[in-house]
Amino acid sequence: MTHSQSTPHSTGLFDFLENSPTPFHAVTAARKILEQAGYTELKESHAWQLKPASKHFVIRNGSSLIAFRSADANPVERGFRMVGSHTDSPCLKLRPHTDLKDRAYLRLGAEIYGGVLLSTWFDRDLSIAGRVYFTDRTGKKAQNTLVNFKRPVAVIPNLAIHLNRSANENRTIQKQSEMVPLVGQTFADHLDFQRLLLEQLHLDGASSAERILSHELSLYDTQRPASVGMRSEFIASSRLDNLLSVYCGLQALVQSKSEVPCLLVCSDHEEVGSTSAAGAQGPFLKSVLERLASSSSDLARALSKSMLVSTDNAHGIHPNYPDKHDPAHQPILNQGPAIKSNFNQHYATSDETAAAFIQCAERAGVPTQYFVSRNDVGCGTTIGPITASVLGVRTVDVGLPTFAMHSIRELAGSQDANFLTAALTEFFQTTDLI
Ligand SMILES: [Zn+2]
Repeated sequence: MTHSQSTPHSTGLFDFLENSPTPFHAVTAARKILEQAGYTELKESHAWQLKPASKHFVIRNGSSLIAFRSADANPVERGFRMVGSHTDSPCLKLRPHTDLKDRAYLRLGAEIYGGVLLSTWFDRDLSIAGRVYFTDRTGKKAQNTLVNFKRPVAVIPNLAIHLNRSANENRTIQKQSEMVPLVGQTFADHLDFQRLLLEQLHLDGASSAERILSHELSLYDTQRPASVGMRSEFIASSRLDNLLSVYCGLQALVQSKSEVPCLLVCSDHEEVGSTSAAGAQGPFLKSVLERLASSSSDLARALSKSMLVSTDNAHGIHPNYPDKHDPAHQPILNQGPAIKSNFNQHYATSDETAAAFIQCAERAGVPTQYFVSRNDVGCGTTIGPITASVLGVRTVDVGLPTFAMHSIRELAGSQDANFLTAALTEFFQTTDLI
C-alpha cells in the first residue's frame, strides 16, 4: 500500500493502523507480524510443550494477545521482561438491535464505548468493522468471522449553525439522540442492516453465512493515517491510543535478541476499566506466566526479578492550552517517550522502575521526558497499576506524547515511534535491570 506523504519508517505503522479498525483486526494484524518473525500460535486449551528459545503467541477472545519468547535460562534467574499495551480504542459500537427507521432514513443505534471525544465524530466518512457470529444453512454450529465494510457507509452529520446559533459557545452533546449514525435511505430499497451485513459477510469470504446470531461491530473513520506538518513532523491517525504502542512493542519484540524470557501483552477493554476475561484485570497474563514457570514458587521468584513496561500514550503539552500541564513537566512531541509518574498510583511508575527505564533508554540513545499531572487537573490511568496489583510486578508507565487523545483523529510525533521501539528493544535485551 502506498501513502504519498508517509516517510519510509512510517509505512509499516500506517498499514498496521489502517488494518486494525477494531481490537479483533489489531490482533489479526499483530498475528501476521509475529508469524512472519517465526512465532507460532498456542491454544490455551492445549497442553504446552515449551522448548528453550521458542517463540509463541496466545490469543484470548480474538481481541487480546500475549506473545512470548521463552529463553534458555530459567525465568527464576532473571525474571521476565514484559511490555504491556491495549488493543481497544474509544469508539461507537453497534447495538444488537441496530435499525432505527424514520422519515425515509435508516440509522443505526450505537453504544458509546469508553471515553470518546464525541465532537470529533461528526461529519466523518465512517465505516463499520468487527466480528460476527453466524450459522450456515443447516443452522447448527455457530461460526465467527471478521468483517470490514472498508468503504464509507455511515455518517453522523452536524446540525447546521443556522439551526443552533450557540454551537460555538455552549455545546452539550446528547449521547443517546445525537450519536446516531445515518447509513442510508429506505424508500428505494427496504434497507435492513442484518441483510446488508450478510451481503458484506459474503463479500468478505463467509459465503455460507445464512443467519446472523450476534456481533461486535465498531464504527471507524475511513481517513487513512497521514504525515502532517511542513517537515512531516507529525502523524495523524485514529487509534494511536494505543495501537502506536502495540506496534512499537511488536517491533521491539521481533527485533530484540535476548537470553531473558520476554513477553508482549496486548489487552482488550482497557478503555472501559480492564475488568473482563480478556482484559488486564483478568487472569490471562497470570495464566500464561504460570505455564512458563515450572512451579508457583518459581513463578514468585521469577516475578520478583521481573519488570513490566506499561506503554500507553501520554499528553504532550499543547501550545494552545499550556496551562493544562505542570510547569516543570511538559512532554514535547518527537522528544522521546514520557515516563508517567503519579504517586497516587494512577500510574504504576516507582523511583526504581523509572531509573531502570531511563537507563535502558540511554543505552539505546533515546531521550526521555516526564509526564506528571497538575494537582488540579486529573490524569488518566493505564493497565500499569492494574497489572502491577494483579501480579505484584515492578512496573513503569511510559508513553509517547500525543495531542487530542481519544479524538477520532489523534496526533503524535513522527520520530517518536522509533524512539519507543529502540528503548523497548533495549529493555527486552537487558539481563540485569537495576
Ligand atoms: Zn490508552
